[in-house]
Parts: sequence; C-alpha cells; structure tokens
Amino acid sequence: MAPTSPIPGMVNADMPGRSQRVTAAEHALMTRRETVLGPAYRLFYEEPVHLVRGAGVWLYDAAGDAYLDVYNNVASLGHGQPDVVAAVTRQWATLNTHTRYLHETILDYAEKLLGLFPEHLGYVMFTCTGSEANDLAYRIAKSHTGGTGVIVTDLAYHGVTDAVSQFSPSLGAGVPRGPHVRTVRAPDAYRRGEADLGAAVAADVRAAIADLHKHGIKPAMMICDAIFSSDGVFADPPGFLAEAAEAVREAGALWVADEVQSGFGRTGNALWGFMRHGLEPDMVTLGKPMGNGQPIGGVVMRPEVVAEFGRMSRYFNTFGGSPVSCAAGLAVLEVIERDALVANARQVGFYLRTALEELANRHEAIGDVRGAGLFVGVEIVSDRAAKTADAATTTRVVNGLRRKRVLISASGPQANVLKLRPPIVFSTAHVDTFVAALDEVLSDRSASPP
Ligand code: PMP
Repeated sequence: MAPTSPIPGMVNADMPGRSQRVTAAEHALMTRRETVLGPAYRLFYEEPVHLVRGAGVWLYDAAGDAYLDVYNNVASLGHGQPDVVAAVTRQWATLNTHTRYLHETILDYAEKLLGLFPEHLGYVMFTCTGSEANDLAYRIAKSHTGGTGVIVTDLAYHGVTDAVSQFSPSLGAGVPRGPHVRTVRAPDAYRRGEADLGAAVAADVRAAIADLHKHGIKPAMMICDAIFSSDGVFADPPGFLAEAAEAVREAGALWVADEVQSGFGRTGNALWGFMRHGLEPDMVTLGKPMGNGQPIGGVVMRPEVVAEFGRMSRYFNTFGGSPVSCAAGLAVLEVIERDALVANARQVGFYLRTALEELANRHEAIGDVRGAGLFVGVEIVSDRAAKTADAATTTRVVNGLRRKRVLISASGPQANVLKLRPPIVFSTAHVDTFVAALDEVLSDRSASPP
C-alpha cells in the first residue's frame, strides 16, 4: 500500500484553529510559522507544543508545565546535559574553526570513537547531519564499487538530500524513488509468517540485486537502519540481517549500517545496533545522538572502501568536525561510559517492555510489544487475532498522551505503531509514569477531547 504519514497526528501549519485547546498565543506562533517558513513544515500533535526549556527527560512549555519526553533520541543523555553543555561552552569560548587547521580535539574524538568500533573500521569522516553522512556514504560506495544501485527497506528513511531522499521511501509517494533504488519488505516478524526471517530477508535482497542487474544497474550498497524505526520498529530475532549482508557482499556491493537511530547505546546490547546482528558493515553512518543536540554526524568505514574516493576528490565540510562539535561528541561518549548508559538502556528498556506486556493483558488494542533497549514499538490493532492495524486509535493515543503531557509519536506503513524512544537516561520511575498515562488514555474510549 502507499505509505501514509509515518507520524499520525502531525498537523500542517496551515490548520490553526483545529482544536479549541490551542491558545491565542499558540495560534499566533502557528500563523507566523506559516508566513515565513512556508508550506513544507509539519508540527507534531493536533495541539502543537510550545517548548521553552528542557532538563533531563523533561521538557517545559511556555506556561511552565512539564512534559515527559518519551520520544527524543537526539538529546539522548537528557536535555541540557551538564557535561555536554560545559564541554561545548568551554570550547566555544576558546576556539571554533574547522578541519583545515591542526587541532587535537578532532583527533582525540576520532581515536576514541574508532576505538569503540570493530577493528576493521579504521577511518571516520565528519558531517553535520545524518543525511549528509548517508549522502557521503553513497558517494563513497559508488566510487568503490563502480555501481549506483541502492537497496533499502519498504519504508526506510535515510535523509533529505536529493540523492538520499531517492532512497528514503518513507517520505511518501510525492518524493519519487530513484530508478536505481530497489526496496525489500521490512522484517516484520509480527505479520510475516516465515520460520526463518533471516533467510527470507536475504531472499528478498537477492531478488532486488537480480532485478537491478536485469535493468543494467550495478549494485553499490544496501543501507539499513538496524532498528527499522520508520518501517515500524523491528529488532528480533537478533542476527536476522547477517545473511542479507552476505548476499550484498557477494554481489560486490557494500553494507552500510545507518546508526543514526540505533547508535550510541540506544538498543541496549552494545553501542551499535548492527552488533545485535553479528555482521560486519563496510560503512557505518552516525548522527542524531552523537552530539546530544550539537549538529554532528559521521561515516565510519573500512579503509579500502574510501581509497578511490580519496584519490579522486577532496573532502571538506565547513562545520563537520569542528572543535565545538568534537568536544560535544567526546563528552557524549564519556558520559555514556561513566554513567553506564548502555546497560541502563538495556535494563530500563526491558522494564518498559515488560510493563507494556502487562498492560496488554488489560488492553486488547495492544497487538504487539517489541524493540531493543530503549527503542520500543507498540502495535495498536482493532482486532488482535486478525492483527488489524488501527491508525485512528493510534492517533487518539498519541494526542491523548500529549494532553497528559507525555510526548511520543508513531510509525509504520499503517501509522499504527507507537514509537517510544526516550533519552537513554530514562529510569524505571519514568517508565511507571509513562505506562500509567498510557493505561489511562487506552481506557478512555471517548473519541476526541471535549
Ligand atoms: N537516518 C535515519 C535512520 C534517520 O532516522 C534520520 C533522521 N530521522 C536520518 C538518517 C537523517 O538524519 P538528519 O535528520 O540528521 O539529516
């Protein structure tokens, strides 16, 4: 089916006045947005949230009310994390330039970061965003393989550049898939019946490779988000991607692990989501939580894949890898280690999934609870046995929680998977607060707020 908006309840800025609960001040902000930002932006929620401050897992609106953040994986260590703030402030006050001067911080950071990857990944190049990282990975893959073909999952999202948007089908039918792009089904263990999901995914990938060849297109890479965040959150069974990665390699193409969502400890087993699958990527792309909000992304790679690219072109990204960004990145890694946040994501994520499974005993609408660490998907259905996706209830839940000042969103091809992705400093007490709010919203059968 045609992809629907991955974010139900998202409202267009041209719809002020939808809810009577939107204040006059909020209306005014929405109108100003429309006037200067144009038609392409979207706000979250039927009643948009006007945030003015953040601290830890809490966000505060203009009235001073606190919202529990169960959604933002950029401020993954919490909003306004003091060690990151101090590192950035110190570096800003000292020097902020770029990678064309000698400077220790980029090297300290690159060495530390590379030390956290398997040994075969020996270089890192810095960008400002995840989109830029994926764009660069694609350029490198093309120069190494001589191919152009790309394989992604049905509803993948990898970013906004012209090249990357062509292999980001979750942008919807209005953003055409490139003629060199092939999609494979998402590894939906809930709806797909295969006994061996890994073999089935690999068979789809082999078919996509064959189809590229049939059309005279040489495959360059398969790029994959190990937690499948826009496809609907799929984590299990661990290892199901390994055979697909082999198939890609056999075809002479590269496996690119997009860790923009699953990186930096979120999935709870290791720092990187691909490790859950026991595969060795040729490149890994990074973003979002890398600087806890400071714009920094990157590509980590096997040295040989960038040899030709380095021979043919120079690389300079004005803001990518600046001293301030690298100071933020270094502080992020230090805090993850010091506060054992990978283990926290694992333990609190397990507690969250267990609590949601208990909630499912009382709420028929919960069809499935899945995920890894603190990246959790909750499938909302109208008929459990038939697994009928229920986007309307999902929208009601997302907006109902927002009214209770709990922030989440949703994803999946049928827009019916609650997407839970709190900062990885989340505690079991925060889980209890969240689950109690979800319980109340699921119990409230009234279709819409007064
Ligand atoms: N890859 C994935 C898996 C993402 O989720 C995103 C952002 N949502 C990106 C890449 C693009 O990152 P950015 O918005 O920083 O360009």
